[in-house]
Amino acid sequence: MTSTRTPIIAGNWKMQHGGRSGCELAAAIRRDLADPRGVSVVVAPPFTALAAVSAELDGSAISVAGQNMHAAGSGAFTGEISAAMLKEAGASWVILGHSERRQLFGETDAGVAEKTGAALAAGLRPIVCVGETLAERDAGRTFDVVLAQVAAVTATLAPSAGHAIAYEPVWAIGTGRNATAAQAEEVHARIRALLAETSVALAEATPILYGGSVKPDNAAALLSCPNVDGALVGGASLDSRQFLAIVAAAHGP
Ligand code: PEP
Repeated sequence: MTSTRTPIIAGNWKMQHGGRSGCELAAAIRRDLADPRGVSVVVAPPFTALAAVSAELDGSAISVAGQNMHAAGSGAFTGEISAAMLKEAGASWVILGHSERRQLFGETDAGVAEKTGAALAAGLRPIVCVGETLAERDAGRTFDVVLAQVAAVTATLAPSAGHAIAYEPVWAIGTGRNATAAQAEEVHARIRALLAETSVALAEATPILYGGSVKPDNAAALLSCPNVDGALVGGASLDSRQFLAIVAAAHGP
């Protein structure tokens, strides 16, 4: 992180802490985050805890994200939730295209692009997730896959949109096997170069987060890469001390 981009540390709680325990976790993060020191801190609870966690964090420097949304504003979409509903519940961010959504729920690049446009139109800041599987990496297709996923959303983005991209190699998510700093930096630099083909301003303004088994002991190395602007954290975000240690790593020395 050598740029003027504000580092972002976002915690993806997935399908955990959907009730009172979500408020307790949020309260612990708020209590112990004495000084965010220029780091943007975001937590993404399940939908059922969004409003309560938002209330718990009201007036703090910590923002709240949804983990997904539907592209439509309203309608007959049983089980879905819109960008406006997320905002009403207190979210200012939304995670889109997480690999679990792509792999387990059939989300496509086109669908993620549609959601990204809808989120931005509603005033929500999307964190668009991209990443290759182990088979794709082993087949030498990492850049093809990741850059195609980024290219699918580029037309929806503008330098001032407030979006972020998260590079999350699928083989590193929840496996305890993180990408090395060199592997992350290589992909992040290629993503930024692709954005620069649209506009240098877009490339410079876009925070590119790394996600995949980020822990307190590997965060500093990953976050010290020039093109790594923060982290999307799964497992370690469920423990306030671990999460805040990663936030502290984003401060730098
Ligand atoms: C994630 O799910 O976005 C993630 C990065 O998970 P973990 O940190 O547990 O690998």
